[in-house]
Amino acid sequence: MDSTLVGAWLGEFARTVEEGEARLTSLDSAIGDGDHGVNMRRGVLHVRRLLLAGEPPDTVGELLTGTGVLLRTHVGGASGALYGSTFQAMGAALPVRHAGAARFGDALEAGLAAVVRLGAAVPGDKTMVDAFEPAVSAFRDVCARGADLGTAVTAAAAAADVGARSTIPMQARKGRASYLGHRSIGHLDPGAASTGMLFRSLAEVVAARRPRPAGARGRKGRRPCVESECSAATT
Ligand code: ADP
Ligand code: MG
Repeated sequence: MDSTLVGAWLGEFARTVEEGEARLTSLDSAIGDGDHGVNMRRGVLHVRRLLLAGEPPDTVGELLTGTGVLLRTHVGGASGALYGSTFQAMGAALPVRHAGAARFGDALEAGLAAVVRLGAAVPGDKTMVDAFEPAVSAFRDVCARGADLGTAVTAAAAAADVGARSTIPMQARKGRASYLGHRSIGHLDPGAASTGMLFRSLAEVVAARRPRPAGARGRKGRRPCVESECSAATT
């Protein structure tokens, strides 16, 4: 991961949120106050401006931290503080120009820890943690087995989607939806849906940039671990 790829990720996330605004709003109307779509859209508009503001910053961390500050300031609601913290924590974990997959996995883990620290939700509470936690876990598992970044983010995106859908039968125990008690059952959590978008965007941009080594066209299965990508010691 470098700041160009992170910039592409953030741009794709912004596009996906804009496209999905109505869906996020409708999900939040069912079990919250109907502002998640508009909140997120407002936040990513500011992120877009940051991306257009000039040269990408030197380090991956600077871009992620700047994004966190903007989301915290402009999204509002519970998710503004939560997304703000997660991006700031990821940024703090990556004060480097380039991070390999394992190091990026550490940053995702730090992002998840920040959400949990702030919101005190655990898996099963029907929040964004239900998408975030399995995504990070899948990323780590796949990377630990020697796969490359593309394979790890694809697995993370799939796990985030499954995790988001798993919130449908849950009863909310955190956030505004918890006020509904058992009436929150049967609805997908809006924050879990936007977290699914976050990981899906990541998988899309990494797949678009993925190099195809000569002779490997159409080959099934994982590319072997590249030391610089899978070693925790990359800079
Ligand atoms: P608000 O609830 O303040 O209107 P949003 O509608 O923007 O904020 O975001 C709601 C989402 O925030 C929920 O769907 C849930 O995923 C997430 N959320 C709320 N509280 C928590 C929490 N304590 N921990 C983790 N996520 C939370
Ligand atoms: Mg809301």
